[in-house]
Order: sequence, then C-alpha cells, then structure tokens
Amino acid sequence: MSPIPPVAELEILSQGDEVVQGYTVDTNAAWIAQRATELGLAVGRHASVGDDPAAIAGLLFEAADRATEIVCTGGLGPTDDDHTADAVAAAFGLELRVHPQALEQIRARYATFGRELDVTGQRQARIPAGARLLENRWGTAPGFVVERWPCRLWFLPGVPREMRRMMEAHVIPGWRKRYPQLEAGRLVTVRCVGLGESRAQLLLRGLEHPAVRLGFRAAVPEVQIKLRFEADADEAFVAEYVEQVRGVVERWAYTVQDSTVPGSGGSLEGVVGRALLARGETVATAESCTAGRVAAALTRKPGSSAWMLEGAVVYSNAAKERLCGVPAAMLEEHGAVSEPVALALAQGVRQRSGATWGLATTGIAGPGGGTEDKPVGTVHIAVAGPEGTAHRLLRLPGDRQHVMDLSVASVLKLLHEQLS
Ligand code: ATP
Ligand code: MG
Repeated sequence: MSPIPPVAELEILSQGDEVVQGYTVDTNAAWIAQRATELGLAVGRHASVGDDPAAIAGLLFEAADRATEIVCTGGLGPTDDDHTADAVAAAFGLELRVHPQALEQIRARYATFGRELDVTGQRQARIPAGARLLENRWGTAPGFVVERWPCRLWFLPGVPREMRRMMEAHVIPGWRKRYPQLEAGRLVTVRCVGLGESRAQLLLRGLEHPAVRLGFRAAVPEVQIKLRFEADADEAFVAEYVEQVRGVVERWAYTVQDSTVPGSGGSLEGVVGRALLARGETVATAESCTAGRVAAALTRKPGSSAWMLEGAVVYSNAAKERLCGVPAAMLEEHGAVSEPVALALAQGVRQRSGATWGLATTGIAGPGGGTEDKPVGTVHIAVAGPEGTAHRLLRLPGDRQHVMDLSVASVLKLLHEQLS
C-alpha cells in the first residue's frame, strides 16, 4: 500500500461553457469547498474551463501535478458538449472503454423512464481504462475516479443535486479513508434564524474555550454556530458547553445538529414539519407579502400533506376580506401592514381551514411602497393557535427577495416557538 501523502490539498474544477461565461454560477465549487473545509481538507484552488477537450485535458494534467485530490464536475452527460471522459483519456493517455457495469446501470435507469438504451446511453458508459466507476443513483451519467499517484481525481456530474449526493456517497467516504486524521472531531451546529452573524459573534464573546473551535456560517436566512470538539471530548463537557451556547442564542436557535447523532438537526421547515407530525397537528397559511412562499416551504419535505392543509395568497385587501374575513374597517383604520391585520389573517385562515395553526405574513417587500413610518422591510407576522395568538414586527434589511426569505423563515420560527 502507498503511504498517505503528507498534505491533503484539494483543487476543484468546474467545466462547461455556461460556467465560464457566467450564465451558470459555480455553486458546485462553493459547495464542495465548504464541505472540504468543514472536514479539514485544504482547498488549494478553484478553476473553471469551457467545453474544449484540449483545454480540459491541459487543466487536468496541470492540476494533477499539484494537488492530491481533484474534484471535477460537469461534462459527463450524453450531449456533444460533454467532453470530460475524452479529456481525461487524453490527459493521462488512457483508453476509453464502455464499462459494462456502467452500461447496465444506465440501461436500468432508462428502463425506469420506459426508454430503450440508445447511443446517448452508451456514450455515458465510456470510462477511461483503469478508472473506478462511481454509481449515480440520482441521475443517469455515472461518475468515476482516476488514480494518478499521489493525486486522485474524482469526476462527478454537473447537476448540483446529483453532485452533492455523489460527494456524500463516494467522495467524502473516500477522503475519510485516505486521510484518517480528517474530521476526527465532533461537530455540533446550533442553527439559528433571525440572528445576524456579527451579533452571534458578539453574543458568544467570553465563551471561548481552548478545547472548542468556534465558527460561524451565514446561510441566509440562517446563521449556524459551529462548535468543533476533539473526538474524545468528554461527553458531559460537550453537553454543558452546547447548552451554554444554546442558552445565549435561545431566542433564535431552532435546532442543534450533532455529527455523532444521526438524524439530528435539519432545516427549519423540516424541524417544524416533524414537530407538527409528532403532535398530529396541522397548519394553514394566509400570505400577503410572501405570496405563497411559506406554503412552499412547508411542503418542501415529502409527507407534508400530513401537516399542511391549505394556503391563501391574500395580496389584495379584497382577498384579505373575502378569504380570511378581515374586516374592511380594520384594513381602513390600520392599513394592511399592521399588527391587527396580521392577527386577523392568522385567526381567519385558522378558523376557515380548521387547521390547528394559522400563519400569516403582511409587509412591504419593496423596493417601492415604503412610507416614513412603514419603510420597506416592515413585516408583521402572526401565528394563531389553540391557545391564542403570537405576533412579531420585523424590520428587515435587504432587497425584495431577502425580505421575503427572512419573512418566511421568521414566521416558521414563530410557529416553532409556539410548538416548543
Ligand atoms: P448532464 O447529464 O445533465 O448533461 P453533466 O455532468 O454533463 O450532466 P453539465 O452538462 O456540465 O453536467 O451540467 C448540467 C447542468 O448542471 C447545467 O446545465 C447546470 O445547470 C448545472 N451545473 C453544471 N455545472 C455547474 C456548476 N459548476 N455549478 C452549478 N451548477 C452547475
Ligand atoms: Mg451535460
């Protein structure tokens, strides 16, 4: 067996004209880089290259000389602009062969769509000789891995959803095996909504401890507080430290994710959905400024019909009256963007739908429509439930999309508070 290379250094290559030309933002590289960094693998560089086999081959050859790990995404598909396998073969002087197992997997995949294997399927089964096949259970084009000691090159599809799953299924386990020193530790993530990154950092001042590496990650609308412990950290110490951090950010935290506890953590909508499911409760939405995005978030998880009953997009005042029974006089007196209207929407939709919980949003997403006392970013959210109502006034920064995203997360968080 070969010795472990002293430095694990990763280079990320993205390929495709659309990436180089800027029509596709290279989210693959960002995602892979973050994941690698979390694991403790050093990321040396990112590069992207167009649909030019010679350019791809050149880049691969050069990168393989520097890095110990390369992840390359894109260009594995069946179309004429997909050149990765050819470029790999050219770069390393390998023959391209139809891989029988790849062909079989593609045939099976095609069969699920009622399609016969054809020339495009066969094209995707061509793998450089000596490469190891990486099964793609989430799409058609398989990936493969090529060893050029001390460099190892992983080739994954460009479609982000497939790429991420192939990373988790093949690449990361491969890294762990090759670099046993990676992420020996335990990672606990406290996931928060409605809390800014800099505020989080200020709040946690004074909690620093030599046995914990503290980090922050902003992933709008969330802020994640990352606590990295040694693998053999004392259980009681970890529990106490996490509790301390959670206590400080209590108002914003919605879940704690622990790398040693399978199934812990998750997205806000997932956590809310699970809580509703466990309680056998349901929800309905009345949305003005978020125009259905809360309902969309609540139905992102499979099985959501167990908790989500219905959603009304009540953009106009007439819709607020007709669908949720908001009194015209109330709209006249307070305006649509107000606490009484938010509460009336939540109560109205709850009553009319028969759901356990009614959720409402009304606000000014901008860029127009703001006034001096109700500037852009003014949003009222409300939750009506069996034991009464809850309301929050938000003053949100940012553009229209940002205001909407934060409003959605905030009303789900308000529901989460009522559920816990
Ligand atoms: P396919 O079988 O779909 O052709 P592929 O492996 O050949 O897969 P590409 O054709 O390069 O991949 O890309 C497929 C799609 O994936 C692109 O249209 C784009 O939407 C997305 N994509 C590709 N590369 C990236 C990237 N680096 N970052 C984000 N998205 C990407
Ligand atoms: Mg393609």
